[in-house]
Amino acid sequence: MTFPPIREELRGLEPYGAPQLDVPVQLNTNENPYGPSEACVADIAASVAEAARGLHRYPDREHVALRAALADYLARDTPHGIGVEQVWAANGSNEVMLQLLQAFGGPGRSALSFAPTYSMYPEYARDTSTEWVQGRREDDFSLDLDAAAALVREHRPSVVLLPSPNNPTGTALPPEAVTVLCEAAASYEPQGLVVVDEAYGEFRRAGVPSALELLPTHRNLVVTRTMSKAFAAAGLRLGYLAADPAICDAIRVVRLPYHLSAVTQAAALAALRHAPELLGKVDNLRAERDRTVTWLREQGLQVAESDANFVLFGAFADRHAVWQGLLDHGVLVREVGPPGWLRVSIGTPEEMAAFQQALADVLAHVTETEEGQP
Ligand SMILES: *Cc1c(COP(=O)(O)O)cnc(C)c1O
Repeated sequence: MTFPPIREELRGLEPYGAPQLDVPVQLNTNENPYGPSEACVADIAASVAEAARGLHRYPDREHVALRAALADYLARDTPHGIGVEQVWAANGSNEVMLQLLQAFGGPGRSALSFAPTYSMYPEYARDTSTEWVQGRREDDFSLDLDAAAALVREHRPSVVLLPSPNNPTGTALPPEAVTVLCEAAASYEPQGLVVVDEAYGEFRRAGVPSALELLPTHRNLVVTRTMSKAFAAAGLRLGYLAADPAICDAIRVVRLPYHLSAVTQAAALAALRHAPELLGKVDNLRAERDRTVTWLREQGLQVAESDANFVLFGAFADRHAVWQGLLDHGVLVREVGPPGWLRVSIGTPEEMAAFQQALADVLAHVTETEEGQP
């Protein structure tokens, strides 16, 4: 007797989740290490109290005030402006992604990404019975644009998922890549959407543009963002997208009624009022990231170029031993990415000092097993 009678393709699968261990230095989930100020906490609390007075009513299904505030916020990253009807929000950008696949994927359709890529995408494809197609990035984690466009034309996916900066590698895509793939996905009927997942967009290096700038050029382009990373609000669960208004309208067909609670909307609006403060540490984190890249290279390690708040480094013959060694020093990083590589999130200067000390110590003990160049 099979119990529970779960769908065949889900049987025996483990739920996704980074192992969360209670150690002093947690650098494994790309969280922002800086919490909100007391002023911000007080404003969120007051806004939530106000929302609580109306909790006997359903919230604004279309969350218009929040979408307007998000559109305002996004406008700083594009000279073309963003309208409220171009914005859609949900409980984390993961929910936004799922809604995109619910509306645009499904049986007989496919979603495509280029590995290494965000590990949740194939799960959303699976959950929506969307076929999953995986291309490859080059050895330096960039995209071969001719090969990538050819793959899109061959498989004609309904959704192309492009994290930029990419997780787990940190690589940002140049605007040409977005353009080439949007054109490839627009070359068949019905055309495919190209979703540029900018969860780490605010951490990109100077001179790296946001795909938001390309929205007026490509009707099939969707740019997703989140308040979880740069915005230091992972606990809030608020993600959003900017796209053609017709795409937002399509999502409204599949979203659950009142999916964004009044409490979430109030807290997110309050947090957005404190954007300068919450984003204030992004510059520090970017500088700390660049210092971490330099230091890792000085240790003779390979390090992927990073436009995010984490760094992928390696390559180790036995990465698990290095991960465990760091953990033994109270430092938790993520065992993720291509074989042999590890990912460290950027924390406070103190946390990064602890990471460096721990890694130096671990490397001194495992050098005999360390791999040379790939
Ligand atoms: C962290 C992350 C997200 C954000 O997820 P939320 O659901 O908004 O917390 C989205 N995409 C990628 C690639 C990420 O790493």
